[in-house]
Amino acid sequence: MKCEPVLSPALDSTKKDFSGACHCGAVRFRAVLSAGLSSARRCNCSLCRMRGAVTVSARLADFEILEGAEYLSLYEFNTRTAKHYFCSRCGIYTHHKRRSDPTEYGLNSACLEGVSPFDFEEVPVSQGVFHPSDPESAGRPGIVGILSFKPISD
Ligand SMILES: [Zn+2]
Repeated sequence: MKCEPVLSPALDSTKKDFSGACHCGAVRFRAVLSAGLSSARRCNCSLCRMRGAVTVSARLADFEILEGAEYLSLYEFNTRTAKHYFCSRCGIYTHHKRRSDPTEYGLNSACLEGVSPFDFEEVPVSQGVFHPSDPESAGRPGIVGILSFKPISD
């Protein structure tokens, strides 16, 4: 199973520095993506399957809230290791501190300037139901499938 996303030709695959914001613009951030947009993925855990965001990764030191930190709300569940943040005004998920790699944040790619989730023609879906940190996950594949978006040309 291939684990790399397929980016639309409209995206610059070498770009790593991004500005980002929630929908209402109250929360603004900047980030340097550790692997650029090639870290794009979705996840099938109970939260991500509802949230539906395509996430990308940034090292903790490479992510900075520039404005609106006071608008961020924190959501935790299960082991409460992962810290999920969203804007309390517009409800949009902006970022989370990852459970599988606490040295990184996962960011909502749709919050990045110039990036849409439909700019990914194919996105790998991570195994989140059986989390890599849980003992019962041993031997399970880390990627459970590929989501694709095919634009209809006019
Ligand atoms: Zn907002």
